[in-house]
Amino acid sequence: MTSAVSTVADRQLTAAVRTYDAIIIGAGISGIYQLYRLRQLGMKVRVFEAGSGVGGTWYWCRYPGARFDSESWSYGYSFSEELLKEWDWKEHFSPQPDNLEYLNLVADKFDLRRDMQFGSRVTAAHWSDAANEWIVTLESGETAHARFLFTAIGILSAYTLPRIPGVESFDGPAYHTARWPHTPVDFTGKRVGIIGTGASAIQAIPEIAKQAQQVVVFQRRPNWAAPLHNAKIGKAEMEQIRSRYAEIFARCAQTPGWFIHQPDARKTLEVSPEEREALWEKLYAEPGFGIWMANFSDILVDEKANTALSEFIAKKIRQRVKDPKVAEKLIPRDHGFATRRVPLETGYFETYNRDNVLLVDVKETPIEAITPGGVRTSEKEYEFDVLIYATGFDGVTGAFDRIDFRGPGGVRLRDLWADGPRTYLGQLIDGFPNLLMVLGPHTARGNIPRAIEHSVEWQTRLLRFMREHGYTRVETRPEHVAEWTQTVLKAAERLLSSKVDSWQTGVNRNVEGRTVRRVLGYNGNGVHYRRKTAEVADGGYKELTFR
Ligand SMILES: Cc1cc2nc3c(=O)[nH]c(=O)nc-3n(C[C@H](O)[C@H](O)[C@H](O)COP(=O)(O)OP(=O)(O)OC[C@H]3O[C@@H](n4cnc5c(N)ncnc54)[C@H](O)[C@@H]3O)c2cc1C
Repeated sequence: MTSAVSTVADRQLTAAVRTYDAIIIGAGISGIYQLYRLRQLGMKVRVFEAGSGVGGTWYWCRYPGARFDSESWSYGYSFSEELLKEWDWKEHFSPQPDNLEYLNLVADKFDLRRDMQFGSRVTAAHWSDAANEWIVTLESGETAHARFLFTAIGILSAYTLPRIPGVESFDGPAYHTARWPHTPVDFTGKRVGIIGTGASAIQAIPEIAKQAQQVVVFQRRPNWAAPLHNAKIGKAEMEQIRSRYAEIFARCAQTPGWFIHQPDARKTLEVSPEEREALWEKLYAEPGFGIWMANFSDILVDEKANTALSEFIAKKIRQRVKDPKVAEKLIPRDHGFATRRVPLETGYFETYNRDNVLLVDVKETPIEAITPGGVRTSEKEYEFDVLIYATGFDGVTGAFDRIDFRGPGGVRLRDLWADGPRTYLGQLIDGFPNLLMVLGPHTARGNIPRAIEHSVEWQTRLLRFMREHGYTRVETRPEHVAEWTQTVLKAAERLLSSKVDSWQTGVNRNVEGRTVRRVLGYNGNGVHYRRKTAEVADGGYKELTFR
């Protein structure tokens, strides 16, 4: 028997149990919706999820204070009238437990769990040209085969620990904000060390400080943040929101960031200082991302405009933090406001007025090591009962790097993307047939579920087209990948955010080799993205090759 024959025979042996029309990796918002749509096409689908339940971000990130910064009612799925009728948001910026409950409800309501396999981390996905299918390997060593492979692995799912000597050596409980225990952690009477001051830390610190005996925050770089202004939603208000769903989703489809917020067409320095100040005061006092997304049209591209806005926000921090030295430490100097995704906060700055909270600037006194007892800086050793790593994610491509994707001829995705992702519309990769990315790199993002629904619907339509034409294999062509990648790079050129290190530009000093900025998303405007993707579909996918 030749080896080629035995390979096919082996495959057929397992085929009865482990062959699917499609495999989806991930059971967050993306994976849940992709499964729902593929099932409607009558496909036999398997979802592999590393966690023990659905929810993705809302399954993993259970730290105190975790909640939306999107308006809840603009974040939920829009595809089911019944679901919209059934689910009541209780807060304008819904907390993690409610979000997880919501996603569990979706999984149950549409009976999705029976096609999901939890505790199943995918480690490899190799294309077999002979069989025209993907062979997916799990951490357990199990394999499964499918004609189509969908990545729904999240842009913020590959969490990272800090690169500090002794990071595993702390004797007490240590938690990463993205791997939080499933039962609440009681901080009463505890001395707590928190490393990191990104979006998760900014949500968690005020909540933990209310309970703990002492909190020491280790800050490498401060982040700009603005007030969330969360509020409860009563029954009557929820009914009113429900009656406006169509209008809300239509609005999100018309804004650059898929949020309800639309930029102010005026330019910052065109208006009088009084008018400018009035708009900023208004936006700072309003809930949500208005201060970022409904601001003057040039704050993300004009250095002078951005500096003026940053000075306004710095003034607010100085007003809110009593100790001027602490306030200055909390004001970023290396990037302007809104050039990184803006964390929204509830009492974050006032937390530093508390007697039980201390801010340690690790630029002044670097952390030398995590010790069994706590954290040693160049100045002293801090003793803790609990240590928290709020050190974020290897954004966008991190979850891809953790899977060994290989196309025909064994081409490795990791090598292909060594200098940054190259995609067609953020949905396909040349040389990787039948691999479709939900919310892949180079898609437009912002209010993420809106982008996810768009991605899933575009891909479902593509599959329907293939079925109608009897095709079993789809690929994009290198010239179209080159063209889209150029469009993505060009859209990023004029943005101030492109000159700033952040997860959005692919920099994470806790990850080997992640010190060079890359363009990871399409920043050209959600509306343009919708138009472009619709043109491709309406035109019969001329940019794709089918067999
Ligand atoms: C704390 C926090 C707050 C956020 N708030 C907002 C917000 O308010 N608004 C907003 O628009 N966005 C927000 N986001 C972004 C958020 O990630 C998205 O809104 C959304 O949840 C993404 O869904 P997803 O399904 O694409 O990815 P995820 O929710 O990340 O799900 C991906 C899933 O894939 C699984 N997975 C990954 N790799 C593998 C593998 N190799 N094998 C098996 N399974 C794998 C993961 O375990 C995970 O469950 C927030 C993110 C964080 C971390």
